[in-house]
Amino acid sequence: MLRGLYLGRFQPYHLGHHEVLKKIATEVSEIIIGIGSAQISHEIENPFTAGERVLMVSRAIEELGIKHYVIPIEDIRRNSLWVSHVMSMVPPFDVAYTNNPLVIELLGEAGVDVRESPLFKRNSYSGTEIRRRMLENDRWEHFVPGKVVEIIQEINGVKRLRKVSQSDDE
Ligand code: NAD
Repeated sequence: MLRGLYLGRFQPYHLGHHEVLKKIATEVSEIIIGIGSAQISHEIENPFTAGERVLMVSRAIEELGIKHYVIPIEDIRRNSLWVSHVMSMVPPFDVAYTNNPLVIELLGEAGVDVRESPLFKRNSYSGTEIRRRMLENDRWEHFVPGKVVEIIQEINGVKRLRKVSQSDDE
């Protein structure tokens, strides 16, 4: 039995993440999803709280019918200790999935088996692009799973993003 770790900020969780998770589900029997930068929210690049992202990932992954754990992980100010920090927060795992170069480097140095996953429609399935569309009142709903659309509507996420993007400068 293999347990795999998938790490991300998920601001928000989108269909690119979902494709990766589907592929991971064919390779392992349990998935741990680590919600990175858990302490950050209400920022233009990080509008959603850890709890909201837990909800997005948990609801979206339900359809895959795989045993999973969704765990918020706060950042720490020392990259060299970050892998130990992650390991202290999540269940033991056999393999980690990421494309983030810093994460690949840190996990690799710690001797973790790291697998990179293919990027799906990177120009559209991208948190940056989805947040840009939300701000510009463009369609974004088709870039995230239906369950995630429901959560973002429920929490008034687009309104929040627009608010936090404003400045009070004259
Ligand atoms: P992300 O949400 O941007 O991406 C998550 C994963 O999905 C990445 O592997 C990314 O490559 C992949 N992905 C994105 N779009 C995709 C697409 N269209 N198709 C397929 N895959 C796609 O999150 P991230 O930035 O990789 O998250 C890393 C987290 O680790 C951050 O929260 C970061 O702060 C944290 N971190 C913290 C420290 C520290 O605290 N010192 C150190 C390293 C990393």
